[in-house]
Amino acid sequence: MKKFDPRVNQIGGSPAVDSDATVTLRKLYATPDTGQLTAVESVARCFPTGLARLIDIRDRTCRTPWCDAPIRHHDHITPHEDGGPTTADNGLGLCAACNHAKQGDGWTTTRTSDPDGTDRHTVEFRTPTGHTYRSTPPPQPLPMRHRRAG
Ligand SMILES: [Zn+2]
Repeated sequence: MKKFDPRVNQIGGSPAVDSDATVTLRKLYATPDTGQLTAVESVARCFPTGLARLIDIRDRTCRTPWCDAPIRHHDHITPHEDGGPTTADNGLGLCAACNHAKQGDGWTTTRTSDPDGTDRHTVEFRTPTGHTYRSTPPPQPLPMRHRRAG
């Protein structure tokens, strides 16, 4: 049996590798017992389309506590230049204005736990005046079988 070589087009036998191609690596995490995908991580600075879409579905609108504008930017909670990974957990959906404001002096964002004890993605925003605000995404809709009649 011929050994599979991913560099070779298996149909035509010619090399399928383009030396000018751009490659982006992505890690997928799954639970070991069921194989269910639980997280996505990219080594790229920008959020890949699938990961950005996941953040859009989770956050729905800009995550700055007083803003409900549509999401236009996907930003790192811990900045990429500070070692923040490009993951859903470290990602945040923001409108353009809030993303630009967040880059200003005195603003910080920190991933933190939900004070209600739920497992929802909670982020603490600290403003230049020292005030802190927490943001959690809206609850996700439950599948039909988990909804209560009434
Ligand atoms: Zn906003």
